[in-house]
Amino acid sequence: MSSMNNKFNFTAISDECIKCGKCKTNCTIFNINQDETTSPRGFIDLLGAYKRDELELDKTTKDIFESCFLCTNCVEACPNDLPTDMIIEQVRYDIAKKYGIAWYKRLFFFLLRNRKIMDLMAKLGYVFQTCGLKIDHQKQSSKIRFNLPIELIENRSLPFADRKSFLNSYPENIIYNKQQTTNKDLPLNKVAIFIGCMGNYAYTNIGKSLLFILEKLEVDAFIPKKQLCCSAPAYFTGDFDTVDYLVKQNIEYFETFIDEVDAIIVPEATCSAMMNTDWVHYLHNQPQWLKRAEKLAPKIIMATKWLHDNTKLQALLKDTNYKSDEIITYHNPCHAKKMQGIEKEPRELLKPNYAIDEMSDPDACCGFGGVTMQSEKYHFAKAVGVKKAAMINNTKASIVSAECSACRMQITDSLGRTDSKVIFKNPIELIAQSLGMPNAK
Ligand code: SF4
Ligand code: SF4
Repeated sequence: MSSMNNKFNFTAISDECIKCGKCKTNCTIFNINQDETTSPRGFIDLLGAYKRDELELDKTTKDIFESCFLCTNCVEACPNDLPTDMIIEQVRYDIAKKYGIAWYKRLFFFLLRNRKIMDLMAKLGYVFQTCGLKIDHQKQSSKIRFNLPIELIENRSLPFADRKSFLNSYPENIIYNKQQTTNKDLPLNKVAIFIGCMGNYAYTNIGKSLLFILEKLEVDAFIPKKQLCCSAPAYFTGDFDTVDYLVKQNIEYFETFIDEVDAIIVPEATCSAMMNTDWVHYLHNQPQWLKRAEKLAPKIIMATKWLHDNTKLQALLKDTNYKSDEIITYHNPCHAKKMQGIEKEPRELLKPNYAIDEMSDPDACCGFGGVTMQSEKYHFAKAVGVKKAAMINNTKASIVSAECSACRMQITDSLGRTDSKVIFKNPIELIAQSLGMPNAK
């Protein structure tokens, strides 16, 4: 507990910063906004002053603290492992308390808390979206038909709702394993799927592909129908009331089935990192809940990681005759590599069937950055996206892949501004394609 609490001691962190500046080189915001105040050591310095009551949380400091992408590049670079991202997440709570949360974000978080209403909104969206959106099914993205000169929507690529959500498309239990065992020492050969909101409503082919892979592996699937949002969008915005609600609802629910599955697999880097790492951070001052989150954490694993480490998938992929003539370039989502150390697993599962042409810096943040970055601070997201799109376009790849739908939304938008032909696919979709999944989009 004490070491966890130290992670939130802004003054101690500020004192531990030796001002070496090593964190600045790869800082996503500093690289586009060359200003010391929007650099990791600048944030740390200002946060220390704020906690010592030497700095007011006025509109300027609010603006500064909201410009961090929470990409964690700085943590990796810092010789003292100072958790800049975590203290920024904490101060965003103070910002939300002092300035409130914009109405459209409150509406969005309300929907995240209320699955049934979200389902209804997604259905309405599906029915009416063709009126206002030009849909590109191959790219799994849409553009607003009326191109108004407003930065937030002008020439912007956005995800669109599918006809039916993933969670509403399949039964709760799907048996693929014909030789079930009662031996408690053997794996249960059953996994639960946490699909994530974007995978549930927009990129539904990810879940379909994951089920196809599990069928080939003869691993049973449990689709927990009462799963709620992992709470990442609210956490990064400082809406801790919503975080508290979603985290506790999910923990209570996961506990009802966790002993009946080998793992909860998540084909989404951000959701997975939120649940196995940030829930623990968030609950640092609620000891009972912290223990419960810590107990669940080791069983919440990114899908490629679990499939790579626990099944014969790699061998199966090597045995297929499938050789794609499409070249892939793989982007490392910040929440996969930097928070969960996952980068080789998806590549090893793709390599038997696809050629990979690495982009110059697969670790560079794509620029998604969360709800605020995608709305009020979209100009920053766009500026970072230009660099990522250039890196991708400089490869021979026709597909860019990453196990993260937030990266997908941001990268598809960034590529859409360059007239690039490169399309985005989650590695799970590509793996299912290698195994012969029909009609993989
Ligand atoms: S989390 Fe990313 S954007 Fe924020 S300070 Fe660290 S490197 Fe910079
Ligand atoms: S790398 Fe760490 S110690 Fe060095 S300036 Fe950045 S935050 Fe401070």
